[in-house]
Amino acid sequence: MPIHSRSSNHGRRAIVVGSGPNGLTSAALLARAGWQVDVYERNAHPGGAAASADTLGLGTVVDLGAAGHPFGVASPVFRNLDLTSHGLEWVHPEVPMAHPLPHGEAAVLHRDVEMTAQGLGPDAARWRSIHGHVIEHIDEHLRNLLGPMLRVPPHPLRMARFGPVAAAPASWVVNSAFSTEAARALFLGSAAHAIVPLTMPFTGAFGLLFGALGMSRGWPVVRGGTGQLVEALLSVLRAHGGQVHLNQEVTSLADLPTADAIILNLTPAQVVRLTDTADDAGSQLSRPTRRRLNNWRYGTAAFKVDFLLDGPIPWTNPAVAGAGTVHVVGGSRELIRAEADVAAGRLPRYPFVMVCQQHAADPTRATGAAAGKTVVWTYAHVPHGYRESRPGEIAGLIMNQIERFAPGFQQRVLKQVETSPADLAAWNPNLIGGDVAGGAMTGSQALLRPGLTFGPYRIPQSRGSANHTARLYMASSSTPPGAGVHGMPGAWAAQAVTQDFTD
Ligand SMILES: Cc1cc2nc3c(=O)[nH]c(=O)nc-3n(C[C@H](O)[C@H](O)[C@H](O)COP(=O)(O)OP(=O)(O)OC[C@H]3O[C@@H](n4cnc5c(N)ncnc54)[C@H](O)[C@@H]3O)c2cc1C
Repeated sequence: MPIHSRSSNHGRRAIVVGSGPNGLTSAALLARAGWQVDVYERNAHPGGAAASADTLGLGTVVDLGAAGHPFGVASPVFRNLDLTSHGLEWVHPEVPMAHPLPHGEAAVLHRDVEMTAQGLGPDAARWRSIHGHVIEHIDEHLRNLLGPMLRVPPHPLRMARFGPVAAAPASWVVNSAFSTEAARALFLGSAAHAIVPLTMPFTGAFGLLFGALGMSRGWPVVRGGTGQLVEALLSVLRAHGGQVHLNQEVTSLADLPTADAIILNLTPAQVVRLTDTADDAGSQLSRPTRRRLNNWRYGTAAFKVDFLLDGPIPWTNPAVAGAGTVHVVGGSRELIRAEADVAAGRLPRYPFVMVCQQHAADPTRATGAAAGKTVVWTYAHVPHGYRESRPGEIAGLIMNQIERFAPGFQQRVLKQVETSPADLAAWNPNLIGGDVAGGAMTGSQALLRPGLTFGPYRIPQSRGSANHTARLYMASSSTPPGAGVHGMPGAWAAQAVTQDFTD
């Protein structure tokens, strides 16, 4: 993975289209290796779905996309880029994650497997036995999982141990392993980050890995907003001479300066559009590649609502107040039903709501006119491209859900900013239909991104392609290991570039 040597790369030029965390990771690695790197970003601010801004208009920071970072803090490439020396600071809440349950109960994930297990009563031993091995060997598991699946894993024996639970549907894992609602809900809430029905294969992997990361590396937020992680990536890039050009939407590869490599921080539908040509060739992509990318399916959506409150959320169970991430839905059956409904295109009455209480770890999250108040980030899973039947429909459902476990919440709301799936896609075209994962994690797409190929980061071109001088690459959440702010698709793509240009 480390891409260092400068000497052999003098004179090589790379262009990156898109400044999301994967685009910037590729850019930073290549610049550090001696490439001349230019990043073109359509928006006025860099960072893609890892940006932060003052959307409440109060002089305080709000995470526009990603908020909680179990993968970011564990990311090998972020460590390799030494982002903490460039201003990144992870801050941990007292409790990584909590899941309030009916009757004032709550399941709590601690940064310690023993403490977590002790809170799960009769399920303590099963919880330990399912997660213990992954936690103990977390680095090896991450090396297996944070890369392409079509390869021999670096630690095959660990993979063999991970496989049985990981390949199973999360619903099956909890029903066969646990007897308490607390353990079931805690596991399923993590699994729901797959944003697919929890009865589908491989959702067990999400439950296992998110939980194991929370219990080992934690589930931190970034001090000052996720945008500070973007600033750290930019700092590395600029330290090595790279540049970012904002307000530059790339609509044709022909408009770009000459380069050796073009890395597209985009999803398959965008890659197809960008490489379609008006000439006889029709596309710069080879036919099988175009077909493969055209077959890519996008998944269910997020509907985001940020709240300004006149105080913290009044959770019935006080343990939930100290959690950075809170999974709000009810018990395991409600969660399974909610995710099944969304996948079937139905809006659940009780949707799965993700709440991030960044202030539980980071005191800088309510400044300016928000000082002394509380800013809370939430989103609900909704069907792909969902359009509200009336204004405020989803914000109402989110408030109802939180109110069930925190009576009095609604009275604390001073202001709210709603971001629908259409708003998300208008802000960042990678979020097609409000899909925050760059493509559904269903069927073969759960493992093979983007589709069946041994070279997920290389984009094979047609022979007569107009831009045949530049080789094309893809680095986004549509390439392995998928969504999240960890930069690993960017790292693998940069590695493919340097391999292809090694003299
Ligand atoms: C609401 C929401 C909540 C999330 N929560 C979390 C979380 O808590 N934790 C987590 O780890 N992950 C979370 N994610 C997912 C995570 O943010 C994404 O997986 C990650 O940002 C993907 O990074 P990327 O670099 O592939 O693309 P993106 O971050 O999507 O960036 C792509 C960039 O390309 C630019 N672009 C697109 N088309 C063009 C063009 N033609 N020309 C120039 N520029 C272009 C876009 O403007 C954008 O800046 C969340 C995402 C969203 C939207």
